[in-house]
Amino acid sequence: MAEELAFILRSVRYQDAAKVVTFLSREGGLRTGFARGATARDNRFGASLEPLTLCRITGRRSGVLALYRIHHADIVEPYRTIHADFNLLSWAGLVSRFLLGCLPPEHPEPLLFSLTRETLSALETRKESASRLWIRFAREGLAILGYRPPPPACTLCHRKVGEEKVLIRPSEGTVLCRLCRREEGKRGVEVPGQILDWLSGAGDISSLPGHWHEETLNFLDHMIGEHDPKWIPASSVTFLPEARD
Ligand SMILES: [Zn+2]
Repeated sequence: MAEELAFILRSVRYQDAAKVVTFLSREGGLRTGFARGATARDNRFGASLEPLTLCRITGRRSGVLALYRIHHADIVEPYRTIHADFNLLSWAGLVSRFLLGCLPPEHPEPLLFSLTRETLSALETRKESASRLWIRFAREGLAILGYRPPPPACTLCHRKVGEEKVLIRPSEGTVLCRLCRREEGKRGVEVPGQILDWLSGAGDISSLPGHWHEETLNFLDHMIGEHDPKWIPASSVTFLPEARD
């Protein structure tokens, strides 16, 4: 029976004594498994299969199309601080929804697994503001999946754009400067050249000025929405007052 390290993303009770669990496994990618006997009260097996928990899962699939069965699970990291804080939980929930919405099933993504682990650990230890951690996660996550946006150079006239806003069509990968878009119509998302520069590059989050954060969040929502039509924008998530960061 194979053992895998996994983030529990979703856990739904099934009949009286079972759970259907969706998890991101380092070895197997996004998987859904069936855990019999995981719902009884005071049940350690059930507790280890709660969403936003890192655990070591032992399970197997009996045939190619058969359901994956989880036989055993041990908690590696319960993320107690995140679970006890409404705002942290909301930010961590974005990470979870991103993985559930953008990943194809059963396709290993070890880099995305590491990025998730890094991000949740940093949220748990409050090393960095939660909104910055989310922005960094979303940029890197999109890049790992092959959806990194193009740099801020106009697709038609090839001019590199600085502060001005460009029009980007994420699905086509085109960028239009202020002058060229007159010809081409308004379809697309507007974004300042500097934000696109940061998102398409490798600069650290500290190189993205604070006053761009709000607009970067909104633009990332557009980018993610291109790949996950059910994406609920981060900008519409409710946070408790004075703790937006
Ligand atoms: Zn142009």
